Amino acid sequence: MPWRERPDGDHRLCAECDAPVRSYLHRLDLPGPAGRRRCIVFRWCAACRVYSTALVAVPPERVPADALADLPAEERERLLRKEHLLVAHLARQDRQSR
Ligand SMILES: [Zn+2]
Repeated sequence: MPWRERPDGDHRLCAECDAPVRSYLHRLDLPGPAGRRRCIVFRWCAACRVYSTALVAVPPERVPADALADLPAEERERLLRKEHLLVAHLARQDRQSR
């Protein structure tokens, strides 16, 4: 069953449990159209433990910091190969930063 979100003003809420949807933009080493940068956006609900991904092209000024920059190269590659581990890592980081 696909995971559903619903808009709430500027935010998005999980359609199942109403928790705020968390997100992370991961930059890819691929140029996008018109000077934009290809990114993958990960969105998840921490309560329901579900996530979704989408490919997007964002203007260079919107590309955020690399959340995996502090990890050893090996760990970073492991997470990038396994989406669900990456999302679990991001969710943990997100919880700790709040
Ligand atoms: Zn939820």
